[in-house]
Amino acid sequence: MSAAQPRVGVLALQGDVREHLASLSASGVVAVTVRREAELAEVDGLVIPGGESTTISRLLAVFELLDPLRQRIADGMPAYGSCAGMILLADKVLDGRPDQHQLGGLDVIVRRNAFGRQVDSFEEDLPFAGLDDGPVHAVFIRAPWVESAGQAVEVLAVVPETPVAGEAAGRIVAVRQGNVLATAFHPELTGDGRIHRLFAEIVRERA
Ligand code: GLN
Repeated sequence: MSAAQPRVGVLALQGDVREHLASLSASGVVAVTVRREAELAEVDGLVIPGGESTTISRLLAVFELLDPLRQRIADGMPAYGSCAGMILLADKVLDGRPDQHQLGGLDVIVRRNAFGRQVDSFEEDLPFAGLDDGPVHAVFIRAPWVESAGQAVEVLAVVPETPVAGEAAGRIVAVRQGNVLATAFHPELTGDGRIHRLFAEIVRERA
């Protein structure tokens, strides 16, 4: 599967699939949708988009993708989850539905809808470890945050201590563990290609 231009899938069961496809294409990889096990087998990496984690979880079961996807992640396939995708990649979720499935791969505990029910969305500029050219403008939409992270997890961004941050101040919102990357926010919505380029780089190194 290795090629000059790796093939990166976007899990296309629900959520903001189109935006991720566009961001991936701009980062110089071949971006394709993934709904079937055979399509999953053809990609060098996978993005799990923002959307609704309980819905994506249910559809993963319906499309019989849960075990194949868990297996590929366990085998080291690069995966990037934004928002709902971060929830799905977490080993544990708080405030989830009891029947919600986890793909796992990230040794973190995430809290769903952590920014509070009233605060549907929140925007902040975040310093992001390893990225040049200044902070990332992060858009959070009914977003999770990481309550705690295991030792193998690299923290890439936390919410800065600003007057508007409130309880979110200091919370972990971007992490990496090996080939698994996750952000609580949506770079696919802001036109900042740096995080997709970082993911494309992880895929290239692995492919
Ligand atoms: N609150 C959503 C969930 O639980 C995530 C929201 C998002 O992806 N923008 O999945």
